[in-house]
Amino acid sequence: MSDLRDLYQELILDHNKNPRNFKKLTDATQTMEGFNPLCGDRLTLYIKSEGERLAELAFQGSGCAISKASASLMTSTLKGKTKAEAEKLFQIFHDVVTGKKDAAASTDALGKLSALAGVAEFPARVKCASLAWHTLHAALEGQKDPVSTE
Ligand code: ZN
Repeated sequence: MSDLRDLYQELILDHNKNPRNFKKLTDATQTMEGFNPLCGDRLTLYIKSEGERLAELAFQGSGCAISKASASLMTSTLKGKTKAEAEKLFQIFHDVVTGKKDAAASTDALGKLSALAGVAEFPARVKCASLAWHTLHAALEGQKDPVSTE
């Protein structure tokens, strides 16, 4: 298990250092701001939808390693998925990081997102890990106001 943890740790560090999809999408169909006052994480999420499908996702912003890695992993994972699939993943991800669901049982569904399962042990970091997802959820719901995790 500790090996697996090391691997996950490495994945988070890598995504923090070299965040994927860290750019502005000039042809985004939706843009949403998210803020986590607890930690100071801020991000702007760009989504380009094609019908029900999330054709492209990108983000910009500043924050801690967890929030950045989470946004990087989320945008990578959701590219090409439908909105319904994205919402379902958000539900599983949220249950795992809040400790409601066992991470080991959800590894298949979450894939690389499992790297963030460890935050369940650190309640203060849960909002860092879920900020990008709450922002996505608000965008998919058609909200206009910026998202705050507080
Ligand atoms: Zn944070």
